[in-house]
Amino acid sequence: MNKNSSNIMALTPNTSNKRETVCIFGTGDFGRALGHKMIQSGYPVVYGSRSTQISNLIPKDAEVLSHAEAAQKAAIIIIAIQRQHYNFLIPLAEILHGKVLVDISNNLKLNQYPESNAEYLAQLLPGSRVVKAFNTVSAWALQSGTLDASRQVFVCGDDVEAKQMVMNIVRALGLTPLDKGSLLAAQEIENYPLQLFPMWKFPIFLSLGLTAFFFFYCLALDVIYTYIYEKKNFSFFIAITIPNRVCPVMALILLALVYLPGIFAAIIQLYRGTKYRRFPDWLDKWMLCRKQLGLIALAFASLHVVFSLVSPMRAFVSWRTGKGIISQALNNKTEPLNNTNAWISDSYLALGILGFFLFVLLGITSLPSVSNNVNWREFRFVQSKLGYLALILCTAHTLVYGGKWFLSPSAYKWYLPNIYMLSLVVPCAVLVVKFVLIFPCVDRPLTQIRQGWERNPKHSE
Ligand code: NAP
Repeated sequence: MNKNSSNIMALTPNTSNKRETVCIFGTGDFGRALGHKMIQSGYPVVYGSRSTQISNLIPKDAEVLSHAEAAQKAAIIIIAIQRQHYNFLIPLAEILHGKVLVDISNNLKLNQYPESNAEYLAQLLPGSRVVKAFNTVSAWALQSGTLDASRQVFVCGDDVEAKQMVMNIVRALGLTPLDKGSLLAAQEIENYPLQLFPMWKFPIFLSLGLTAFFFFYCLALDVIYTYIYEKKNFSFFIAITIPNRVCPVMALILLALVYLPGIFAAIIQLYRGTKYRRFPDWLDKWMLCRKQLGLIALAFASLHVVFSLVSPMRAFVSWRTGKGIISQALNNKTEPLNNTNAWISDSYLALGILGFFLFVLLGITSLPSVSNNVNWREFRFVQSKLGYLALILCTAHTLVYGGKWFLSPSAYKWYLPNIYMLSLVVPCAVLVVKFVLIFPCVDRPLTQIRQGWERNPKHSE
């Protein structure tokens, strides 16, 4: 093999690769965890602390000095101290002049202060080069090495060179820096760890509310009604029967709710004759959490599959089957196979299996690792075309199973419709309107609007 000189150079160990000393102010939880990780990655670490006494908790090989002495030993100083104590840095302004100060602090509340902690630090020490980083990584994750979920480190700062120096450290620690721009982005970065599932709030509350409603609806009709009018105690329905009614209903309604905002958006655009006006806030928010609604729907559909698979193991089911066999034996008559019923039950199962398969496919393609590997058109095809197909199959699955209830008077206990009928309202409405929207006379103007055409340009903002 012909090796050229540059290859040989690349294989030669680089003796000048020695890492620069990093100073960390504060020997608290985060300062120690970060120092430990840095030493592991080959960085000499020196701590600046109020007490220079070495404790067992401080990583071996690290030096502990006063703040002023430690700062003189490094060009980069990580401030692992809460914002309320930043005043102690003012007397060190001269020593910290020109140094890169890394602000890693977080707050207790969203937008706790008028300016971000990093901007506050920059105001206190105008001669230093402040960079925001590491605040989204927890001390525990750094120490235990379980950084898989938070490998990304947001970095921002006004000094490009200082930011690069910090990003190099981030990379050397095996993490991924994400440049968020100037120090103005610090507020957003500081708010990030304080957010609690922002995109999940609406889908979770909606699901909890609907689940509670349908659960009590079934409880009233299947348990309480039967107890009052038929004197039968079916309270055990609470464990499997009712959840197995609520789960498919929830899965179907939530799947329809994934596609309903798109229908509203299309109607609004057609009505306004332009795409250049903002949707109402509620619609924007709804559109942003469609993925979460879909994933919760998938969770309900999976529960429905599990509940259905365990059904034959239930005492109630074996009792009912045994009762049927004994009554046939007592009457000395075998019931003939009802072909219509066999067709209905097989088609219902087949539709459910296909619907669930597409449901899972939608869930898988919404994972970032998968969606990053398909182009926009492929993603749209799966999420829109196959998504609608999943909705059609799941709606048909419910219709075939519950359709017979529509005409049966016994289904209207207390004059209330059966839960299957309720579950079909939103999906059927979505499918009917979608069907209208794909008619060429409606689809053509809608496509034009989405390509930038305006019916009445002077009305657009
Ligand atoms: P901590 O355990 O309370 O440590 C804070 C350190 O600050 C103390 O150990 C002390 O170090 C120093 N300090 C306290 N009062 C001081 C004062 N009046 N003057 C000067 N120094 C003082 O807190 P921490 O959990 O390490 O958090 C430190 C910073 O990291 C916070 O801003 C936090 O928001 C941020 N952060 C923490 C985590 C985490 O998982 N813990 C994650 C991301 C960001 P000395 O005794 O050595 O002086």
